[in-house]
Amino acid sequence: MRLSPRIAGISESATLAITSRANELKAQGEDMVVFGVGEPDFITPEHIRQAAIDAINDGYTKYATPASGIAELKAAIIEKLKSDNGLEYKPAEIIVSCGAKHSLYNVILAACSEGDEVLLPSPYWVSYPEQVRASGADVVVIDPEPDSGFRVTAGQVRAAATERTRALILNSPSNPTGAVYTPEQLEAIAEVCVEKGILVISDEVYENLLYGDAVHESIAGFGPEIKALTVVVNGVSKTYAMTGWRIGYAAGPQEIIGAAGRLQSHSTSGPCSISQKAAVAALTGPFEPVIEMVKEFTARRELICSMLDEIDGMKLARPDGAFYVFPDISAFFGRTVGGRKIESAMDFAMICLEDAKVALVPGEPFGAPNCVRLSYATSREMIEKGVQRIARMLA
Ligand code: PMP
Ligand code: GLU
Repeated sequence: MRLSPRIAGISESATLAITSRANELKAQGEDMVVFGVGEPDFITPEHIRQAAIDAINDGYTKYATPASGIAELKAAIIEKLKSDNGLEYKPAEIIVSCGAKHSLYNVILAACSEGDEVLLPSPYWVSYPEQVRASGADVVVIDPEPDSGFRVTAGQVRAAATERTRALILNSPSNPTGAVYTPEQLEAIAEVCVEKGILVISDEVYENLLYGDAVHESIAGFGPEIKALTVVVNGVSKTYAMTGWRIGYAAGPQEIIGAAGRLQSHSTSGPCSISQKAAVAALTGPFEPVIEMVKEFTARRELICSMLDEIDGMKLARPDGAFYVFPDISAFFGRTVGGRKIESAMDFAMICLEDAKVALVPGEPFGAPNCVRLSYATSREMIEKGVQRIARMLA
C-alpha cells in the first residue's frame, strides 16, 4: 500500500512499544519489573479526581468547549506561568491539548515545514525527531561534548545554525538523561537564538522533578526578545500523576499558538472536557501531594543510582531531574549472556526483557546507542528487585 512519504518512515514510539510488550508478558503470567514508560506509579491526588467526578455529575460532558482549551483552564495556566516562571501571557497565547505531546506536535506542524532545519540536542526524547519529520522539516542533531553532563553549549548551537534553521528543541530537565541546564547556560543559548532568530520549543514537563541543587528556569524568562521567540510546553501528566488524563499545554507567540489551535480544531477538537476540569483543580489546588511525590522520587533516585553503581561496567551520571537514569552499558558489548551476544543497547534491552524479565528502553531511539534508560517512577521494592535481576544476569 502506498503511504505518505512523510509518514512512512515514522517508527512506533519505543517507550510505548517496550511497555506494551512488558504488559503482554505480565498478562501471560510473567513476573515482570517494568522500568519502561516514564509514568508516575502514584494515583492522581484525591481533590483532582473529585473535580472530574463533579464535572461528570454536573453534565460537563459536551462538545461545548473551545478547541484550544476552556477559559478557566487557560486562566489557571496563565497564573501558573506567572507565579512559577515569571512569564506573562494572554489567553490567545495559550493552547491546551491532549497531552504535552499533542501540544508539541501541533506547534511543530504550525511552525516548521519542508526546507527548515530543527536543532535537536541529543540524547533526545523519542518523539521529537518523528514529530519534526512529520512536519517535513529536517532534524539536525547536536551531540554534547563528553564531559558536559549531556548538555549542549551556546557555541554548539551557534555552530549548528544555518540559514535554514527554524527552531531548537530544548528539554530541561531532560528525558532521558535527567540533565538540567543551569540559568547561565540557558541565557547563553537564548542570546544565540535571539541573534539568529531561532524559535525555541522549550519542553518543561519535568520542571518540578528536581534533585540536589538543581534549579529550573524557563529560557523564555531571559528577556522580551527570547520570550517572543519561545514556545513553552508543559502539562499535568508528570507533576500531578495525571498521565492518562491527557492534558498538556503550550504558551508562546500568538501567530504560532493560533495556527496550532486551528489545526487542533480539525483533528481532536478541544481536549476532554472532564480532564480539563481536573487540570484546573491540579493547577489551583494544594501542592503538598506533589511535594510528597518528589520526596519519594528523591529516595528512589538514590536507591537506583547506588544499586547500579555497584554493577561493574555500568557507567552512570547522577541525574539532576525527571525520573530516569541513563547508564552507558557499552562495556557489556561483546559479552555473551544466556547464550546470546550483546552487540547493541537494543540487544541489552531484549536480553533484559526475555532473560531477566526487566523492561527498560534501549538508547538507540534517543540517539544514544551506548545507553539504556530506566524509569524509576516505580516502587522501591520493584527497583530493588529489577536491579538485582540485571546484576545477576550480568554476573
Ligand atoms: N515531553 C517529554 C520530554 C516527555 O517525557 C513526555 C512524556 N510522555 C511528554 C513531553 C508528553 O507528556 P504528555 O503528553 O503526557 O503530557
Ligand atoms: N514520556 C514518557 C516516556 O518517555 C511517556 C511515554 C511517551 O509518551 O513516550 O516514557
